[in-house]
Order: sequence, then structure tokens, then C-alpha cells
Amino acid sequence: MTKAQALTLLLEKIEVGQYLEMAQHIFNWDSTTTGFSVKSLPVRGAAIGWFGGEVFRRFMTTDTLEAVETLEAHDSELTDIERAMVREVGTTYRKHKAVPPEDFQAYKAIIAQSQPIWEIAREKRDFGMILPYYEKIFDYQRRLSEWYGYEKHPYDALLDDYERGLTVETLDGFFEALRDKISPLIKDIAKNGNQPKAITGLFDINKQRELMPWLTDFVGYDRERGKVAEVEHPFCITLSLHDVRITTKYHEDNLLSAIFSTIHECGHALYQQNMTEELMRHNLGDGASMAMHESQSRLFENIICRSRAFAGILLPKLRLHFDYFNDWDEDMLYRAVNIARPSLIRIEADELTYCLHIMVRYELEKGLAAGEIKASELPVLWADKYEELLGLRPDDLAKGVLQDVHWGHGLFGYFPTYAVGTAYGAQLVNAMSKSVDIDAAVRNSDLSPVNAWLKENVHQYGKSLLPKDLLVKATGEAFNPDYFVNYLREKFTGLYC
Ligand code: ZN
Repeated sequence: MTKAQALTLLLEKIEVGQYLEMAQHIFNWDSTTTGFSVKSLPVRGAAIGWFGGEVFRRFMTTDTLEAVETLEAHDSELTDIERAMVREVGTTYRKHKAVPPEDFQAYKAIIAQSQPIWEIAREKRDFGMILPYYEKIFDYQRRLSEWYGYEKHPYDALLDDYERGLTVETLDGFFEALRDKISPLIKDIAKNGNQPKAITGLFDINKQRELMPWLTDFVGYDRERGKVAEVEHPFCITLSLHDVRITTKYHEDNLLSAIFSTIHECGHALYQQNMTEELMRHNLGDGASMAMHESQSRLFENIICRSRAFAGILLPKLRLHFDYFNDWDEDMLYRAVNIARPSLIRIEADELTYCLHIMVRYELEKGLAAGEIKASELPVLWADKYEELLGLRPDDLAKGVLQDVHWGHGLFGYFPTYAVGTAYGAQLVNAMSKSVDIDAAVRNSDLSPVNAWLKENVHQYGKSLLPKDLLVKATGEAFNPDYFVNYLREKFTGLYC
């Protein structure tokens, strides 16, 4: 195979693969936004399964590897984008190849069963029901780490699936900083802090809807190259460069929920809308990693829009729609959107406590990956860790070890990306603040300097750089959790102490 043939082959495979993935996304969009009859489930399931399998079958052929090896031999003649494409295709192919097909099939079957079982187990608060599935899933993950290979810790191999290059060594340092500096602050606030006035009552959903065009325009989401819909669990989905869709969910009794989750999804969407045709064509039109994607959503949601400056522009907008805010001032609103208190449920956690929820899961997964923890010990260890880090002990399994879908879905090593992404966000904002007056941009209702910085330093690279290299390029240094820890301490000490 010549270099030109190899390039053509990979680009063709990518193009067809993207069409097949687009079809899966449309299925997903259809089922989450418009719904479907339950009776159609088996046929839909079969069709979705076929599309997924077809992507895999077309990719895992010997000519893919031949093309990768041919291009690796011509490494010095490749453009940066081509080299990144070869790196990504090669890594994915070799990882899949390392797993014995019969084990992979057996695992898929277990996951298919464990998903509905988890729902029933959670409802019945019966850990024993899901335990045999968790045992098989964790056992597979341990074998997976051996098939993939690792240098220091088996968990490193599994983390790498979600965040290339992330290791236990890095995460231990990160979470230690949170344990030492944030966990005491949380407990102190819970005991001594003056809790601000919360936003309570009911807020008409139609009026909430009226706020959204302003909000999405403020963040910079291009509504002409996407669509906004309402769903049960909000997400962002990319069908193509010019079709990046976001979703939201309104709660009558929680005004802030839709506002901040919409900002979050806009952060993801902005990253996708700023990709280029060239990146898309080479299958690099995605975030550098899951954590880097999450950094974009969270820096808008928390650092930029839970700021004092944003409270100043949000309040007049709220007053336009809700008389409730007539006697509120900007400071009250700033404090109300930043209420922090330890809780048991991760997805409801505030900015200050969120990463401690992740730390609980990180320590358990690390122990499971190393074979130091047995699945049967999880309920007690879970409760112990919540008590240690957040000062609360769940007495209900649905609010404890059974609250997350992840393990039942076979997602293991995924949780840390939420926390790492949040911390990437703080490091990026710190670097951005050297050349951009972020507060002034917010006050002027013009985030274009912020978005231009993100496009220039993060978005334009798509997946062509590994997350660790992107971070160094954008901020001048490797991942440094101090920025996040200091940001949290400064902000919440100011708010509460
Ligand atoms: Zn997100």
C-alpha cells in the first residue's frame, strides 16, 4: 500500500463511519426529544445495534492496520492533522485488537442485562441484585487493564480510555489537594457559614423559555447552526460542523436548573461549533478529551456565569420575566446561585462540593482496579468515604452506592474526567485572564474576547492534540490543580466567611 492509498483508505473509512454515527445520533435525538412507542423498541434496538456493529466491523479490518502502519512509516511526510489522525486511528485499533472478541461479546451481554437490573435494584434499594453484575463488570475491567497493559497502576490503563495519559499518580496529587484544602472548608461552611437566601417558589415554564434565546446568544451559541430542544436529561450532540444541538429541561420549582444546565450545554456546543472542516474530515472534530470538553462547559457554567459580574446582568433579565426578583439585589442573586452545602447526590451537588463526590468514586474504582476492594464491600466503603470527605453518611442505598448509572453501563474510569475537566477549566481561565478582562466582557454582555481566546487556544485544535499537550500549549504548564483549589477557596471564603 502506498502512502497516498493509505491516506485515501483512512479518509474513506472515516467518512462512512461518520455517516453511520450520524444515523445513531439521529436515533438518539429522536428517542430523547420526540419519544417513540414502547412496542417499537425491539426494532429500534436492533437497528441501533446494527449501526453500532457496522461501524466496528468496517473499522476493525486488516487494511485499517495496514494503512496505519504505512503512514507511520511515512511519519515525517505527514501534516500535523494527518499525523494526529493516524495516531488516533492506530490507538483505537490496537486497543480493540488487544481484547479477545469472545470476552468482548460476553461483556456486552452482561452490560445489556445490568442496565435494567440497576434500575430495579436502585428502586428496591437492593444491592444484592446488582452485585453479581458488578462483580463480572469489575472483573472484566481488571482483565482489560492487563490486555491494554500499564506501567504503574492497573487503573492507569482504564483511565486512558476516557482521558489519554491520565494516571493514578496525577489524580492522587489532585485529589489530595482537594482533601487537604477543600474538604475542611466544606465542613466549616456547613457548620459556621451564613446560608444565603435561596430562590424559592414556582416559576412559569413559558417565562423560563423566553429567557433562553438571550442566554444562548450571550454564551455565543450559534442557533443557526444547531437546534435547542427539551429533554429529560440535557445533553449536547454533534451531527455535523453546522448541526450542533443542545437540550434543556425546565423545572417549575427550580429556576436555576434550566439556566445553568443550558449554559453548560452551550459550553460544549461552542467547542464543537468552532471546529473546522479539516478536523472533521480527519475524525478530529471533537474535544481533545472528555475532560477537556467538560472544562469548556464548566468554565462557562461556573466560573463565568456564577460570577458576581454575571449576577449583575442576569438580575435585570429575571426581573423582566418574574416580579419575584423586584426586591432582590445583585449581591443576593450572586450568593443565591452559589449556595454550597454538603449533600449525598452527585448530580445535585454545587460547584464547591462536586469534586469531592468524584473523589469518593475515584478511590473506590482505584481499589477495585487493583483488586484491593471487593464489590460486596462497596455499600459500606461508600458511606465511610462520604462521611470522611463530606461529613454526611447515606442511610438509603439510592442516595448512596446505587445512585449512579455508570458502573451498570460498564463505564469504569470515567468519573475522574468530570473533576479533572472542572480543574482544567480553572487553569484555562487563569491563563485567559492574563490577556482578557473576563469580568468586563461579562458586564458588557459581550463574551467575544473570551470566545476568541478559547477558539484560538483550545477549540481550533479539536482532537489533534492530546489533552496534556493542549493544556501546556494553552496555559504554558502541565496540569496544575492549584488553580482550581485556589479559585474555590478564594470564591467560597469570600462568600461565606
Ligand atoms: Zn457536560
